[in-house]
Amino acid sequence: MEPEPSFAHMGLDGRLLQAIAELGWAKPTLIQEKAIPLALEGKDLLARARTGSGKTAAYAIPLLQHLLQVKMSPLVTEQAVRGLVLVPTKELGQQVLQMIRQLTAYCSRDVRVADVSGQVDMSAQRPILMEKPDVVVGTPSRVLAHLQGHSLSLRHSLEVLVLDEADLLFSFGFEEDLKNLLCHFPKIYQSFLMSATFSEEVQALKELVLHNPVTLKLQESQLPEAAQLCQYQIRCAGEEDKFLLLYALLKLGLVRGKAILFVSTVERGYRLKLFLEQFSIPACVLNAELPVQSRCHIISQFNRGFYDYIVATDEQVLAEPTVRAKRRKGAKGAKAEKGKDPEYGVARGIDFQNVATIINFDPPPSVESYIHRAGRTARADNPGTALTFVTHPECPLLAEIEEALAGESTEPVLRPYQFRMEEVEGLRYRCRDAMRSVTKQAIKEARLREIKEELLNSEKLKTYFEDNPHDLRLLRHDRPLHPAIIKPHLRNVPEYLVPPTLRAIAQPLLNKRKRRKHLAPSSSRPRGGFQARGGRNPLRSFQYMGRRPRRPANKGKTS
Ligand code: AMP
Repeated sequence: MEPEPSFAHMGLDGRLLQAIAELGWAKPTLIQEKAIPLALEGKDLLARARTGSGKTAAYAIPLLQHLLQVKMSPLVTEQAVRGLVLVPTKELGQQVLQMIRQLTAYCSRDVRVADVSGQVDMSAQRPILMEKPDVVVGTPSRVLAHLQGHSLSLRHSLEVLVLDEADLLFSFGFEEDLKNLLCHFPKIYQSFLMSATFSEEVQALKELVLHNPVTLKLQESQLPEAAQLCQYQIRCAGEEDKFLLLYALLKLGLVRGKAILFVSTVERGYRLKLFLEQFSIPACVLNAELPVQSRCHIISQFNRGFYDYIVATDEQVLAEPTVRAKRRKGAKGAKAEKGKDPEYGVARGIDFQNVATIINFDPPPSVESYIHRAGRTARADNPGTALTFVTHPECPLLAEIEEALAGESTEPVLRPYQFRMEEVEGLRYRCRDAMRSVTKQAIKEARLREIKEELLNSEKLKTYFEDNPHDLRLLRHDRPLHPAIIKPHLRNVPEYLVPPTLRAIAQPLLNKRKRRKHLAPSSSRPRGGFQARGGRNPLRSFQYMGRRPRRPANKGKTS
């Protein structure tokens, strides 16, 4: 019998094992099991790894092991930057930094790490780099700028290079920067290239940076098994039905725990936020127009359970890679013009934790985007649900996604979610009323106000909250944007509007506030919230096929 894979058998430094134990990781994930031993042998690696597979630790653990070994050697006395992790987005940079910090919890004096991907002024990062942290994390453009500005030198010190989300590195138009970076590297170093896809660009990148690599194409499906990730589709007659359905699902408590609501544009994101606001359902919009600190703050507050719903756009995923590349090459002009940050990406890379459900309010533009959106839930060993709303014109796209995901299987991958819209007809009037209040002008104002507020927050975050981390929680991102149109009576769903067949499982948020008082932040509640009621997931159990037949009057009587 094959022995169970374990971290203990990998010959890792005790301090790393201690940190892994503290993280509660019982065993390596598939990618870690395969990649770590090969990396420890000194091999270059090209690994296809989906987000949520544990890919960050798959390269971080061998990198840290190498650094600890080097630093224990009596021959090595000089402090130097020996590891470089290139990431496509600032958000991913933060996340990698956090992961490495967690893994170095017991050797933080021996191995230091710095993230230079943030939008902080270059001059503020210089003193950090002067101290020569053992690992530098950054976007190619920022790292190149530091190399060219002589605040960083890698020519004689780089030993391990990582390209994380390598396919995105190319599609964000970093290829020129990457080529220029190579001139600053030594001739020999070990490289790891992690990518969700093996596109032509990744092949090109492989030629540039890898030397006789071992390729790991793990026999892992792109999304977790059906037992872990439930995937549903819901047919909607039109736009109004989408809003009505979402209102019903959230307000009746059929979607529990934290959820990400994906929409196709920023404008739609704010439309949805303002719509939900009227029912006192707080949500925050994550989009490329916001300053980077705000975005990271929103994600970290969401992860810590301060609020349950994030409305997200994944514009970078929507654009064709070549278009994206050109947009960025067109220099920062495009950035200034659109006010959007080209290094922003929600569906990829960012680690949202304990997301119970993702809802494709607008359908994903491609199969790849679907996979990455759905991959935000059911991460590591947690269960999750992906719900996709589909209107008639969107059916062909859904069929494409289904075909790509089905593989050999004849079973539908996205099972129909049985929901009788007529049962929530009683809520339609309220829904229509709320939709009407969300005018174009209201959206425009809300967007502007949020950018202004977040810019202000961002400055505050940078300076004040560095000294007062506890006050961070005071800055909430899900405050109502348009308080004037909030109608207090819409906060609750009166009993008579809850469909009778749903009363047993529905949990209208009548007393949510009251209940919340007694609850810890949702991150410390049972995962996904679904277990909150005797382990039942209402989405799973909700086979809503109509009223139950009445019990026959003579039941129990003998004839
Ligand atoms: P990643 O694919 O690197 O974004 O990791 C996804 C999530 O899986 C992160 O929240 C990690 O903390 C978690 N994770 C990584 N490795 C393991 C493991 N061996 N066991 C359990 N969780 C893990």
